[in-house]
Amino acid sequence: MSISDKNQVVLRHVTKKFTTRTMGTVTAVDDFNLEIKEGECFSFLGPSGCGKTTTLRMIAGFEDLSEGEIELCGRPVSIKAKNLYVPPEERDLGMVFQAFAVWPHMNIFDNVAFPLKIRKVARHEIEARVKDALKHCSLDGLEKLYPGELSGGQQQRIALARAIVTNPKVMLLDEPLSNLDPKLRETMRFEIKELQRQFGFTIIFVTHDQSEAMAISDRMMVCDMGKIMQIDTPENLYRKPNSRFVHNFLGESTFINVIIKDGKVFPKGDESQAIALTPPENAESEMVIATRPNAIKLTKEPVGSPQRGSGFRTHIEKRIFLTDKTEYLVPVGEQLVKIQTPHRVVFAPGEACCIEISEPGWYPPEDKAAEAERARRQRF
Ligand code: ADP
Ligand code: MG
Repeated sequence: MSISDKNQVVLRHVTKKFTTRTMGTVTAVDDFNLEIKEGECFSFLGPSGCGKTTTLRMIAGFEDLSEGEIELCGRPVSIKAKNLYVPPEERDLGMVFQAFAVWPHMNIFDNVAFPLKIRKVARHEIEARVKDALKHCSLDGLEKLYPGELSGGQQQRIALARAIVTNPKVMLLDEPLSNLDPKLRETMRFEIKELQRQFGFTIIFVTHDQSEAMAISDRMMVCDMGKIMQIDTPENLYRKPNSRFVHNFLGESTFINVIIKDGKVFPKGDESQAIALTPPENAESEMVIATRPNAIKLTKEPVGSPQRGSGFRTHIEKRIFLTDKTEYLVPVGEQLVKIQTPHRVVFAPGEACCIEISEPGWYPPEDKAAEAERARRQRF
């Protein structure tokens, strides 16, 4: 199904604060504003503790809001200021969580039929709909078995079947594939997208795995410490990250600490050779330049030539053979910079070389306080 311009999930100024004896007050979700379109597959991506699950639980109606409002399918479901709150079973949602939330004492049929039974759907209709859901999740014929008799992948399919059986408009998936092995995760990604195509629901997919989010999403939101950092398509987030955090979180990054002096850029710790880059106008005296290991050009230094190329002169410190590329570690000032090339680019350890960096990102230096706060939020 294609994405419409109709908003299906809207968050306005949604905030959630938790106060505990050990942690004090934590703003788990800080002023989230978000519009997710009908038919979209939208991911929440960020490290553990950044507020993904809390946001999902507020959308589902399991968690009260500290501030703000939420709209689903054009209908307000939570408005803090008006004390409006629609309970989860009236929100027209399907949900799958990380731990296999299937009931071990019920057989597969009863597990999947459960949401229909509490909605008091007629018996013959339950039979037909459960059958259909099981078929779509490749579980037909297994109705009488118990979850313990199935593999991890099949158990997560039970959870999926139970989520689609009510034919919800919005599907909330909280790290649904984290407990599965890598091969199966990839298969299940396709199956989820295929179910979406057939049933036409909107997906909110929570994950801390960037490659999973990139593979599945139309758009995604990257968060850090309870704040939205950036919302965009996977490609735009990768190509135009608006912060060091987003740059680092998506794909591999190479960061180089630099000093800016008289409009020139020097590697931190060694000001004997400048890097041929023009700093941005608002540059501070210390900055971090950001690029990707495969975006740095590595060339031979023309030996004995007076003009020794336009690159930064250095040497190969270490060569590492990876299956699909070669990695070189190259000193730049006091840092070792990671560069990845195709195997055909061959340098020997110790060999002189030049590196060229084009169009890097420019960010302020690392923030130690932020690192500490991020760690604190993960300890919960
Ligand atoms: P994520 O799903 O991104 O890993 P969570 O939404 O689970 O993150 O948590 C966000 C922050 O809120 C964390 O700092 C966590 O410690 C805190 N938190 C979550 N749930 C509770 C709770 N019930 N009580 C207190 N703090 C909580
Ligand atoms: Mg979580």
